[in-house]
Amino acid sequence: MTSDDTVFYNCHVHLVRDRDSPERFLGDFTSILRKIRFLKIIPGIGPVLRMAGKTSKEILDTLIKKYERYNKKFRNEKFKIRNIKKYQFVVLPMDFSEMGAGELIEYEENGCLKRRNLEEQLEEILALNAGKYDDRNDNEIYHYKGRIIPFLPVEPRRNYEECGSMIEYIEYWLKKGYKGIKIYPALGYFPWHPELMRLYDFIQKKELNVPILTHTSVGMIYYRGDDLKRLIETALEQPPHYNGKKVNVECWELIKTYLKLYTTKSGHVRNKLLCGVFSHPINWLLVLKEFPNLKVNLAHFGGLREVRKYNRWKNQPLRVANNWFSMISNMIKAENTDGTPKYPNLYTDVSATWGKRRFHTLLNQTLLDTKLLDRVLFGSDFYNNQIIGYEINFAKHLRDKIGNKFNTIAQLNPKKFLQGIK
Ligand SMILES: [Zn+2]
Repeated sequence: MTSDDTVFYNCHVHLVRDRDSPERFLGDFTSILRKIRFLKIIPGIGPVLRMAGKTSKEILDTLIKKYERYNKKFRNEKFKIRNIKKYQFVVLPMDFSEMGAGELIEYEENGCLKRRNLEEQLEEILALNAGKYDDRNDNEIYHYKGRIIPFLPVEPRRNYEECGSMIEYIEYWLKKGYKGIKIYPALGYFPWHPELMRLYDFIQKKELNVPILTHTSVGMIYYRGDDLKRLIETALEQPPHYNGKKVNVECWELIKTYLKLYTTKSGHVRNKLLCGVFSHPINWLLVLKEFPNLKVNLAHFGGLREVRKYNRWKNQPLRVANNWFSMISNMIKAENTDGTPKYPNLYTDVSATWGKRRFHTLLNQTLLDTKLLDRVLFGSDFYNNQIIGYEINFAKHLRDKIGNKFNTIAQLNPKKFLQGIK
């Protein structure tokens, strides 16, 4: 066993602060929610909102302490996390500038009203990782240096003039220490947005080997503006072009059919559900057709809504075929005619949804397929996951249920997904 086998990875963590979010972040009642977050009367979302009010250092501190306590408590049990010497967290800052929810909130500091910008958020994570906030008198386990594998948020609609271009913005932050790219399509764009296609092309041509994390679920955070229908219709009018290249027309037509079906489905009227059109895993077929070796984590393995539906309807083949959970499984398992994997660097993670114990049997069965076992990553979606459960219960219950497969998803697979980045 190499020394690297002693690292435990959580591939999906947020340290985003309240002040990095816009005024109407959770809709029209956001300001009220912010005011009453310390009351115990709001279960579920309450702990999440309270955590958001802390600094990134305080949030990371809470997380690290949870794991250290867990490791001590279960050290001698049958399903201990073996020989863990270090915990590392893929941290995902967020760019909410174009989600149609107003400007970032104002906050008071030294008697002045301020708004934070993206750069400050990104720098805070780097400073934390560089050990700038380490408490030298503290026990080593509570130090923050080297705990973070930061992913850079990329919003293709942002104006990057200040940095020259989106690619220059990315190059700048990768040099400064960012290791991967994070995109969040539910904020109002498709994963095949022409700017993103140019980015994938850049990653592939430069052989950067940069991992990308994207959300494939319907959740609380999505485009809140009034322009949603137009956004979708305009994007679907014609296939995206990038660097003078057209995408595969057959694949484009297939995707359009799926997406039109999704948008016209009864009940898909409100922004929350309609934004699922952006997160839909089918979008990635178009991307992977062009860039089959891209390293991507389709986070959440389908998400709560779809996994719930899968559990209910698993014996109905038509419904199963259109289910996001099975779609992601099939994409990972897809093979070329010679038996090699079609998308060898396509991964998913078990964050959020899979914290629910009632899905652990399904996950255990799923991971019996070694093609899937090799491409699933452990991630929790801390601190958003506090809405449905607790971090350590998730790790412990999952470890109890899936046994040694837990080491594969929390240690071996993340190493492969993150390898190549220094
Ligand atoms: Zn997340």
